[in-house]
Amino acid sequence: MSAEGGDTVIISQTYNGKSIAPLLAVKQDAALVTGVVDMVDTTAGFSVKKTCFSSKAIGHISINHAKRVLTLIPNSYKITQDGSDITAETVNTSVSAADINTTIISTDKVTGKIPLTEAELVVSAGRGLKGPENWVMVEELADILGAATACSKPVSDIGWRPHSEHVGQTGITIKPNLYIAAGISGAIQHLAGVGSSKVICVINTDPEAPFFKAADYGIVGDVFDVLPKLIKRAREIKGA
Ligand SMILES: Cc1cc2nc3c(=O)[nH]c(=O)nc-3n(C[C@H](O)[C@H](O)[C@H](O)COP(=O)(O)OP(=O)(O)OC[C@H]3O[C@@H](n4cnc5c(N)ncnc54)[C@H](O)[C@@H]3O)c2cc1C
Repeated sequence: MSAEGGDTVIISQTYNGKSIAPLLAVKQDAALVTGVVDMVDTTAGFSVKKTCFSSKAIGHISINHAKRVLTLIPNSYKITQDGSDITAETVNTSVSAADINTTIISTDKVTGKIPLTEAELVVSAGRGLKGPENWVMVEELADILGAATACSKPVSDIGWRPHSEHVGQTGITIKPNLYIAAGISGAIQHLAGVGSSKVICVINTDPEAPFFKAADYGIVGDVFDVLPKLIKRAREIKGA
């Protein structure tokens, strides 16, 4: 930031981005706004939009500071071309091992082929799947659709799925075009991370499950009955 004379750093709101941004802001004495969901507005000063209160409200934050660090939620807005003539410049930097104060204790390997934060389609499941061995259905459907896989917090807490798949208030925030939720109740903390998906399809045996209130398509049914049917139909449509 200081070497290149830049005044604003925008980082993707991923696990890494969320941990790097505050450190960078402190080091650079910069203002920090996380969870930005729209283009920066510079028509009067410098303001950004972010979700607040578990995505129940939108905050308009005006930043009155010469330096800013922002984290942007992936897939928050559409990419458009406005004809501006902009040249992207590649900056080469080198970091020595002595500069790194972080030690990697363990690594979770992401098994999905598509990174969750960049996925346009996501197949997600919760405790209704009963056990990790049943994720074969979730992975199969995701494979056919070209989707990433995700899960609810308890599922990753119990160790059925890696923490990198945990979405929600304390996990990753995603905004895919389609979010399929199988056997997830739809608690407010889960919805905080997925409620802004463009289309939500919920499969749950309980017609009173809160997730149905946020769903565009709701299937009251057993995942062990519905998912195999969805897989079969998706295969037929995709010719896979
Ligand atoms: C501070 C805090 C932060 C949290 N952060 C998060 C977060 O980031 N993300 C998150 O997900 N949660 C979070 N939680 C937990 C959250 O409150 C819920 O407990 C959690 O989301 C529930 O997960 P679940 O829906 O998988 O499980 P459950 O609540 O057990 O729901 C399982 C659902 O599956 C349905 N079901 C059961 N069997 C079947 C079947 N055979 N077919 C179809 N449906 C079936 C049930 O009807 C039920 O609705 C947080 C909680 C707190 C207090």
